[in-house]
Amino acid sequence: MKVRVLGYYGGYPYDGVGTSGYLIQSGNFNLLLDCGSGVLLELEKYLDPLQLDALILSHYHHDHKADVGVLEYYWQLNKENRKEPTLPIYGNTDDEYSFEGLNWNNDTKAMPYNENKKLNLDPFTITFLKTKHPVPSYAVKILEKSTKKTLVFTSDTKYFDGLVDFCSDADILITDTNFYEDKKGIKWHMTSKETGKLIRDSKAKCVIISHLPQYGVLSDLLNETVKYSGNKSNIMLAKLGLMLDIN
Ligand SMILES: [Zn+2]
Ligand SMILES: [Zn+2]
Repeated sequence: MKVRVLGYYGGYPYDGVGTSGYLIQSGNFNLLLDCGSGVLLELEKYLDPLQLDALILSHYHHDHKADVGVLEYYWQLNKENRKEPTLPIYGNTDDEYSFEGLNWNNDTKAMPYNENKKLNLDPFTITFLKTKHPVPSYAVKILEKSTKKTLVFTSDTKYFDGLVDFCSDADILITDTNFYEDKKGIKWHMTSKETGKLIRDSKAKCVIISHLPQYGVLSDLLNETVKYSGNKSNIMLAKLGLMLDIN
């Protein structure tokens, strides 16, 4: 399984880098996880978007779905050379209005997921965990059947204990680490300190800290995370184009 970072800022794109989006590939299967602002342009550098097999949206905040509309147009305006006749877009049905909006002509089709049912997507078995966020949001665990390797994406969330189990022993963990450790007040994302503890307790093997802030010094965010993880290695900041292969 390969994962490539296509965008990593929280909230809005900044300095040439988009918001949430990750290309996950196994064999010739191409899965896009989130489709934030700037993600389609970045995806085009690596893959013809018509070769996508599926898109999964962690939730319907704009920084995770801003480019869904233009991806739908990409499919609408290019009828030839599609890998699949229709692109399935998986989303939660807690928000029915946003879910229905994933249907576009016969070009894209809204497909439901929920916590209680494993999603079988050819090389992957995918499970979901509802997180703590102002809108329904789901962490996503992707198991590659052939290798038994797992990738876990926390989606957007404040820290809660249930995350530890869900992330346990992840081969790759991608976290929402939007805040430095000294963040005060209401937090709907994790701080570096909380991510560090999550890494320590879940024993995740390799971590990309993502949903990054546009302010401060990102190496501080990384150092804080490493400190609270118990000085684990294999923790890195998301970078545009960063690709990890865990086969
Ligand atoms: Zn977000
Ligand atoms: Zn969000």
